[in-house]
Amino acid sequence: MTGTSSAFRATQLATIRHVVLHPCHGMEQHEAPTMRTVLTLFGTRPEVIKLAPVMHAIARHPGGLRSLQVSSSQHTDLLHPLARRLNVRIDHDLAVMTAGQSLTDTLTRVMTGLSGVLAAERPDMILVQGDTTTALAGALAGCHARIPVGHVEAGLRTGDRTSPFPEEINRRLIAQVADLHFAATRRNVDALVHEGVAPDGIVLTGNPVVDALHAILADAPPAPALSALLAGIAGRRLIVLTTHRRENFGAVMHGHLRALRRFVERHADVTVVFPVHPNPAVVAAAQAELGDAPRIHRIAPLDYPDFVHLLSRAWLIVSDSGGIQEEAPTLGKPVIILRDTTERPEVLECGIGRLAGHDAARLEALLEDAHADASLADTARAVANPFGSGDAGTRIAQAVHAFLMRTGNAPIAAHPQEHRP
Ligand code: UDP
Repeated sequence: MTGTSSAFRATQLATIRHVVLHPCHGMEQHEAPTMRTVLTLFGTRPEVIKLAPVMHAIARHPGGLRSLQVSSSQHTDLLHPLARRLNVRIDHDLAVMTAGQSLTDTLTRVMTGLSGVLAAERPDMILVQGDTTTALAGALAGCHARIPVGHVEAGLRTGDRTSPFPEEINRRLIAQVADLHFAATRRNVDALVHEGVAPDGIVLTGNPVVDALHAILADAPPAPALSALLAGIAGRRLIVLTTHRRENFGAVMHGHLRALRRFVERHADVTVVFPVHPNPAVVAAAQAELGDAPRIHRIAPLDYPDFVHLLSRAWLIVSDSGGIQEEAPTLGKPVIILRDTTERPEVLECGIGRLAGHDAARLEALLEDAHADASLADTARAVANPFGSGDAGTRIAQAVHAFLMRTGNAPIAAHPQEHRP
């Protein structure tokens, strides 16, 4: 089966299931009006951002789905205010984080905490997102309790088991455990099929980060402090910079920042806003290289809605973040990626992204190209978003509902060990 046809088939199967099984198409008179509970687990900032539209779509699905929302609080400080701003209710907080804990500690604490919730709530399905330790723990706990697992953002791969670590391993392990795989792009569908995942368990949905961005820009105005900053720099070409990845620490990050500084010094029409990640390595590099640089504004990290507003005003984004590579095409912004490779090649293929790698000279050349090419911003705005059109939450809720209709509402089987004499 070719990649394209497998992707098409996955989409088609999802649609067929929906048409045959959705209550709107004639099944409801035969079904008991049972409420199905879908437990969604999140623990980090990107997870709550991407799962918020999914949880909202589940809660408003007309087919009788109950959204049960569980936080592992793997990132407590960032997560709770964000959940509040995105109207995400937390029904259970596993509160797993302790100082200096290992990956194994996090994994086992999430599994143990979640197992108690599963026994008490008996959900019909568990949704996890991405590649965190929380997501892996949720998938394994679901598997052990014989509860179907759905994986949002399935099929993302670097092809390198060691990078990013442990995320690439986590993604692959979750794919082995999940029953439903919600792939953001055709490439992600193909990666899953290539690894032997059955195509009829794969649904091409787009990435719910697109839904999240649209909702934020429509509903959450920028905070006064950000509005004041934006007013102060109006009229200049705005570069939004973020860098925090461990592999860039040290000489690479210093080189990138020096290249940016030189570029800004050469072009009086350019300004940079740099929300500085709190990691001491980033703070020190920013202070050393950009200390007194004109038109470079170092600010504290912004909460997500404000950061989205900032991105939406950018002329150019320069970043080593993974999530921002999905946000750039959604907002129609060109992005220079401070990495050697990307697990989201779609952003390069659609023409919006360029890889600067670890080379400061290449970054400087790419910045000059962007400055010289007045059409770059227009081109970026016109690109079709490879990560979907903003209806991933609804598509996922529909596919979950169809799956639960198809598989019935069997009670949770006890853990096999509990049957042993
Ligand atoms: N982000 C944010 N505030 C900031 C900087 C970034 O909300 O000041 C968001 C950004 O939009 C992206 C996410 O944080 O969605 C990126 O998270 P991170 O860089 O920690 O992880 P990665 O994307 O590399 O997995």
